[in-house]
Amino acid sequence: MKTAIIATHNAGKAKEFKAILEPKGFTVKTLADIGFTEEIEETGHTFEENAIIKAEAIQAKAGEMVIADDSGLSIDYLGGKPGVYSARYAGEHKDDAENVEKVLSELRGIEKEDRTARFRCALAVSIPGKETKTVEGSVEGFIAEEPIGENGFGYDPIFIVKDKDQTMAELSPEEKNKISHRAVALQKLSSLLDANE
Ligand code: IMP
Repeated sequence: MKTAIIATHNAGKAKEFKAILEPKGFTVKTLADIGFTEEIEETGHTFEENAIIKAEAIQAKAGEMVIADDSGLSIDYLGGKPGVYSARYAGEHKDDAENVEKVLSELRGIEKEDRTARFRCALAVSIPGKETKTVEGSVEGFIAEEPIGENGFGYDPIFIVKDKDQTMAELSPEEKNKISHRAVALQKLSSLLDANE
């Protein structure tokens, strides 16, 4: 039986990973399952670098295949910010509402065509004795003038999905899981694992 450890404490993400990996014959374990409690410092400057740092650090301890993710929001007018700082944009206490407020105030008065943004997600797969591989997914949109919608988390209420003209927080979880940056990256991961078989 093949084992895949997924580097997340987030139950929602764990579920998304399991849906892709279990049908491929993987036994999926979370960090809680393997008793990994160390805090890994995300010192990378890109989502990809941070995903690699996490996957390799955990694989070095666990000795089994590890899949790690890193994601966030990239706003063109802000030169790609909040980027890898998405979770703690308004401070180390990682408050979603404060992060949203900071972005809205930085974009106040900016016209719609200059509010373009994308959610991005990098996944890294580290296998003992092999070179780490990465895939990336994204979803295009633009930043709303005020929060709309109750679903999701993080920046979802201010991210208008380009092809839908609704915010991510107005979509049902099922709809979001079909089009999200994580869903796109997970599909690419699926193809990568198939090619590696
Ligand atoms: P992480 O990949 O879970 O560390 O995500 C980092 C931060 O990016 C989160 O705390 C959110 O602020 C933001 N983020 C990542 N994915 C999403 C999403 O699907 N919706 C809204 N915000 C997100």
